[in-house]
Amino acid sequence: MKYYSTKNKTLRKSFREALMEGLPADNGLYMPEFIPQLSKDYFDNIQEKNILEIAFDVLKPFVREDLKDDQLKNIIHKTFSFDFPVKKIEENNYALELFHGPSYAFKDVGATFLALCLEEFYKVAEEKCTILVATSGDTGGAVASAFSKVKNIEVVILYPSGKVSDLQEKQLTTFDKNVKALEVEGDFDDCQQLVKQAFLDSDLRRKLNISSANSINVGRFLPQMVYYFVPFIEFGNAPLNFAVPSGNYGNLTAGLIAQKMGLPVRQFVAGANSNDVVPRFLRDGYYDPRPTVQTISNAMDVGNPSNFQRMIDLFPEEEIREEIKGFAFSDEVTLKAMKTVYREHDYLLDPHGAVGYLALKEYLKASKGKSIVLETAHPCKFMHVVSKIVSEDIYPAGAKELIQKEKKSVKMEVDYDGFKGFLLG
Ligand SMILES: *Cc1c(COP(=O)(O)O)cnc(C)c1O
Repeated sequence: MKYYSTKNKTLRKSFREALMEGLPADNGLYMPEFIPQLSKDYFDNIQEKNILEIAFDVLKPFVREDLKDDQLKNIIHKTFSFDFPVKKIEENNYALELFHGPSYAFKDVGATFLALCLEEFYKVAEEKCTILVATSGDTGGAVASAFSKVKNIEVVILYPSGKVSDLQEKQLTTFDKNVKALEVEGDFDDCQQLVKQAFLDSDLRRKLNISSANSINVGRFLPQMVYYFVPFIEFGNAPLNFAVPSGNYGNLTAGLIAQKMGLPVRQFVAGANSNDVVPRFLRDGYYDPRPTVQTISNAMDVGNPSNFQRMIDLFPEEEIREEIKGFAFSDEVTLKAMKTVYREHDYLLDPHGAVGYLALKEYLKASKGKSIVLETAHPCKFMHVVSKIVSEDIYPAGAKELIQKEKKSVKMEVDYDGFKGFLLG
């Protein structure tokens, strides 16, 4: 399998190159040159398979030239090392819980897979590498945890001081050795700007191998195909609707590729918060990004989602409006849905999952079918919202331990020279 750039279809890079570079130099996004097909009868006995076997079948064609079977198996074993339970919300509607990993969000899957692949590739290259990540919350925790387990790769995480939740901050600042947290006296955009400047600094790049663990790296989005197969292990091969709470649209794009491989999807439904550029595109037929607005589902606060480029690369525009239905919801409506679902069905949605659930219900007004909502984060990550709904303690044991740990961060002004000095330390 080779990878081209959405801006240049004649470019051909290996999986290894696409992963290590992160982004093509032409500012497009890497895409697989073709979509492998699962056999027609793959789903006939899916209930006899487990997630590790499925992950191997799904991912192998994308990486076979760069990872040996036993390497891939080992990476899969460590990536899909936690549960992905399917829980009933109400008749016919289920939550696929993707948040039982180390940072309590689905991003653990992509971040772990990427970290383990990069570890293999840098081992062969006998080089060291520094990963730079700017985070507004959820990404940093998944990346920190994933890379804390690998060798020869340093990670520097920049986060805006005072603007992430307690638990999120502890997920960034309690590792030692190769994971360092920079607490920037600014906002998320300042963090992102410092990282961008580093990538453009040829002097720095001569002295240091830098790379990114951004969600647009193919190594992060490919493994996200795998959990879409989980409900079929439970329910068999009949087609399902999938509702996906979306921000940068990486999760949904992974689902679209899984469907092209043969996953029996009846309908994809995208749920957005007030950052509703994709639902508006699906409704009006033109793409009109707006500045990002802050919401209670803050991991989806993306005004101009990067993976839109991949979505229109996969489908012609007329088709995409059939392929995906999209709906957007305000914070007020989201909070109300969290309350109602908790009261009536005793299921606690997090603000992101709630947006997915609302989108599903909107779609089901005119349609039907057994449906799955991707529950992307544990509600305890958003206690400032969730505490309006439940009073009891919902922290898993691991999160409680983490909150007790001591934070280790380096405070920094928004100052590129200071940042560069730190990196070259
Ligand atoms: C990142 C994130 C999303 C959005 O996923 P995309 O792939 O960017 O669309 C949704 N929910 C949670 C909890 C997240 O952390």
